[in-house]
Amino acid sequence: MFDNKDQSRTSLSDLGEFGLINHLTQNFTIRQNSTVKGIGDDAAIVNTEGKQLVVTTDLLVEGVHFDLSFMPLKHLGYKAVMVNLSDVYAMNAEATQITVSIAVSNRFPLEALEELYAGIELACSIYNVDLIGGDTTSSTKGLLISVTALGTAEPEALVKRDGAKDGDLLVVSGDLGASYMGLQVLEREKQVYKVNPNAQPDLEPYSYIIERQLKPEARKDIVELLKKMEVKPTSMIDISDGLSSEIIHLCKSSKTGVRLYEDKIPLDPQLINVCEEFEIDSTTVALSGGEDYELLFTINQDDYEKVKGNPHLTVIGHITPESDGMNLITRANTSIPIVARGWNALQDEE
Ligand code: ADP
Ligand code: MG
Repeated sequence: MFDNKDQSRTSLSDLGEFGLINHLTQNFTIRQNSTVKGIGDDAAIVNTEGKQLVVTTDLLVEGVHFDLSFMPLKHLGYKAVMVNLSDVYAMNAEATQITVSIAVSNRFPLEALEELYAGIELACSIYNVDLIGGDTTSSTKGLLISVTALGTAEPEALVKRDGAKDGDLLVVSGDLGASYMGLQVLEREKQVYKVNPNAQPDLEPYSYIIERQLKPEARKDIVELLKKMEVKPTSMIDISDGLSSEIIHLCKSSKTGVRLYEDKIPLDPQLINVCEEFEIDSTTVALSGGEDYELLFTINQDDYEKVKGNPHLTVIGHITPESDGMNLITRANTSIPIVARGWNALQDEE
């Protein structure tokens, strides 16, 4: 982090647009049979093989969604893909192709974009998706990245937000809150560095939470696990904005209420330590932090035996009638309404 390596710089204007696109995409291979035509024509061609197509897109803007002073470009490329694949998996679909569009200012040399594309390529190879197109343009300032992901599923396999029923169990994958606290640590170290550029930050005690912020993984494995266990969620959403806000989306779409148990929310021990250090409540962070990219879903009670004891899955509550409202049952056994405070509210609190 904060390395200022003296790298060689190749100006983007030396290459021209086509040279640049060629250079950046030359190492990408096609992995999916469904990719009929990738980069190089007016449009890509995808064979959906009779399945339904899911499409999702996200736009990331420098200074709004990422800070290049602590986000390495390779990680940024990787994360930009993860954010989109996570949305495909939240539909219980298989991600198959992506397009990547970038707007770059001439402050970036070719070597910077090579790093970005190295991260995109790593994501493509690990998640078995093809880069099949995009667009390249200049910006007056900063970097913008837009990724669109395509995926397919058999029509009966797709899971939407609106299928939760009274009595269903609420389940989450992985653990929550780490990515937000990873960002807090990185921002703190950035301030320290500004005052003393020779300071050597010891980030070892924060390795897990920083990794969750800089290199999140989309939960393809959970979609595969559920399929193997023969569990089809009744509703599903991915956690990008924080647990509360996603629970509210599920319940409003499904016209239900919920009881969420504070003591069941999965937290990593490192996150708990960092929350103590920052004197911030770990439940608040899990509820409102966001960028976890875990899957939140509901299952029929009959499927409880199948998910019980699985180390990747935690039952955190259950669905109730809409008239009961959406409530958090605290460790002190009091019931408080779940509100979406999200990212901004958390920031204001400090
Ligand atoms: P057009 O002028 O028809 O929009 P472009 O010259 O922008 O075509 O793109 C040529 C080809 O390169 C297309 O297949 C396009 O999808 C692909 N492409 C353009 N920019 C990128 C990029 N940043 N990443 C990946 N593929 C890209
Ligand atoms: Mg174009």
